[in-house]
Amino acid sequence: MNYADVILPLPLATYTYRIPGGMTLAEGCRVMVPFGEHKYYTAIVAAVHNRAPSFEVKDIYALHEAEPVLRLPQLRFWEWIASYYICKTGEVYKAAVPSGLKPEGNAADAFRKKGYAPRMQSYIRHSDAIAGEESLRAAISSLKRAPAQEQLLLRYLDLSNALESTHRRDIPRKELLDVSGSSPATLEALLKKGILVSFEREVSRLQPYTSALLPLNPLSAPQEQACNQIREAFRTKNVCLLHGITSSGKTEIYAHLIAETLAEQRQVLFLLPEIAITTQITERLAKWFGDKLLVYHSGFSDDERVEVWKRMLDADGAMLALGVRSSIFLPFRNLGLIIVDEEHENTYKQQDPAPRYNARNAAIVLAQMHGGKTLLGSATPSVETYYNAVRGKYGMAELMVRHGEGLQEPDVRIVDLKELRRKKIMKDTLFSPALTDAIRAALDAGEQVILFRNRRGFAPVVECRNCGWTPHCPHCDVSLTYHKMHRRLECHYCGHVAAYPALCPDCNGNDLKMQGFGTETIEEEVRELFPEAVTDRLDMDTARTRSACEHIISRFEAGKVQILIGTQMLSKGLDFGNVSVAGILNADHMLNYPDFRAHERAFQMMVQVSGRTGRRGKRGLVYLQTSQPDNPLIRLVEKSAYRGMIDSQLAERSCFRYPPFFRLIEIVVRGRLEEPLHAFATHCADLLRERLGDRIYGPVTPPVNRIHNLYIRKIILKIEASAAIAPVRNLLEETGERMRLHPDYPRVRIHFDVDPL
Ligand code: ADP
Ligand code: ZN
Ligand code: ZN
Repeated sequence: MNYADVILPLPLATYTYRIPGGMTLAEGCRVMVPFGEHKYYTAIVAAVHNRAPSFEVKDIYALHEAEPVLRLPQLRFWEWIASYYICKTGEVYKAAVPSGLKPEGNAADAFRKKGYAPRMQSYIRHSDAIAGEESLRAAISSLKRAPAQEQLLLRYLDLSNALESTHRRDIPRKELLDVSGSSPATLEALLKKGILVSFEREVSRLQPYTSALLPLNPLSAPQEQACNQIREAFRTKNVCLLHGITSSGKTEIYAHLIAETLAEQRQVLFLLPEIAITTQITERLAKWFGDKLLVYHSGFSDDERVEVWKRMLDADGAMLALGVRSSIFLPFRNLGLIIVDEEHENTYKQQDPAPRYNARNAAIVLAQMHGGKTLLGSATPSVETYYNAVRGKYGMAELMVRHGEGLQEPDVRIVDLKELRRKKIMKDTLFSPALTDAIRAALDAGEQVILFRNRRGFAPVVECRNCGWTPHCPHCDVSLTYHKMHRRLECHYCGHVAAYPALCPDCNGNDLKMQGFGTETIEEEVRELFPEAVTDRLDMDTARTRSACEHIISRFEAGKVQILIGTQMLSKGLDFGNVSVAGILNADHMLNYPDFRAHERAFQMMVQVSGRTGRRGKRGLVYLQTSQPDNPLIRLVEKSAYRGMIDSQLAERSCFRYPPFFRLIEIVVRGRLEEPLHAFATHCADLLRERLGDRIYGPVTPPVNRIHNLYIRKIILKIEASAAIAPVRNLLEETGERMRLHPDYPRVRIHFDVDPL
């Protein structure tokens, strides 16, 4: 074989290189290749062959290691993602592999040094010269006049079990010094005398899960029944939905299915929507599967991620990987089961950059490539998944009782904000009397409260009362949100920050008014209303890092905080024990959001937040404040009427050609100048309409029509769910290429978003 097609970490398909004499390559190997004038990249071999290309090709510069770092189904999986989500395999590679495994640089030798390096640690053992009992005694007595050295040696012998050949262990240098209290100089002396020897060893950065393993909890009768339904479904179907209300014990069922799969020596992937909840779930799973558990997410350093990757490559038997969406890219072997927990969460969809994949949907394809099964779990399944289950494409198991004696579903009470404001009962406050009383009662009883608002910051809109001026982001088409904590204005789209002006920059007036509210505003008022309570806030401002987030959650779990205020981060599968009251401060903007999924999402968020209350023995109380108490969706949330929500959504979506009846693909175009961009978008839409007719909508101007200095237009393709999609993708890709090269529209960007969320 003389040529290799390789995948570069660039928006390209494969690229061909010559294999130099003496180099043997296999698919999935890492190679170093020159690209362009000066750059070298780490590429992945996708194929080796003898077909000489008609153009001149460069030589592969070097092979990183003889063993592939990718497995075969993985390459096929990358190709599937690239083709389904209309992007390049190079973009999938970029997203899939930790950067430590793909070093790049301007010169071949410079980038050899970059990338992953194993962590080395100094260890101490005794030299062979004192291995026998005789020579050891001689060594000890030779130290008679050096008591510090003698003491260190004895301590070493003690720690290392040096005399028992079976339990002997090497001692980390640091541990030896710490435990013995000896100085480095004393150790140096023993090393110099050749009694002890120092050496370097590669150590793992990954924390082992060392706690003793516990047996699984036996399932309750309803849980056992649901579990059997799943097993039954998997006999004939690749995918099964577990629709189980919050606290019904879905995780316990997952554990039983995981154990069964591991017992077959197959691997399992457990997908979670959010880093924030990995700690809770990791602790639970570690008790049962700690010896086979690997955790993978972006909260880890890149080196740690490389180590998880390597561990996975070396594993040939049972293994349980737990992670967020990017863990679908780990080098699995023989995946028997993928669990997608909280499958309705939109964080499974990658928005930007490409590949814009949905990890839940991709997981189904991945499992199938391994001959494995996928279990989707949720208390509020997505409309798409539920529809697939109802019409028999997926299996379905239902679990509609909470685990534990007498546990009821939360009591949801609707508070009419319009009425309270009209009667002047609620003025300048975010809290209705009913909610205030309930919070006070909970605090008095030593219980906890969560308050939900899906918007962070203090005031989303600032306005000059004199001239009407409002601060806008200079880079985006949105107004800036005031954040009191940092006393500044922030753009929630691009992160732009600006000082909060003392005077109106337009008229110099000093009457700036704040409108709307976010989590910060709530926190401020809570502190005034309930000064005796300890409060905390869980949102993107307070929980920027994983450890900050863990800290907030664990303080709340430990009861050190009584009132927790948060955004939708609160709703994602956290299991709190002592929350008796939840307040949804204002549901209105969730209802009015201009998106066909708005009602589905509002329902899911509110039901999930409600589900955090009343666990372990007491019925939870939820106050849902809204100025639209008669909105049918609010009534559905009140009754937790999931089926009612689904029915109304399905009716609406079939009328207006939305998923699950139609598949959506957005053609997104962006450019610095609005007019040429609009002309470009119109031209594109016209071209597509020639072939696809009235399935093409737009170009439309999105609600936020400029982000990061780029104007945005979208063309929407709605195509029958039953239609063959491959020719359509080809057409889109061709049109995209043609338009990218069009001389009239330089520098316009175009990408596709398949199944947008
Ligand atoms: P879900 O994942 O459906 O929200 P969980 O699995 O978290 O529900 O269960 C809720 C609580 O009930 C957890 O604290 C869990 O440990 C407990 N639980 C559920 N089922 C069992 C069981 N069969 N045996 C012991 N504890 C259980
Ligand atoms: Zn003004
Ligand atoms: Zn901005």
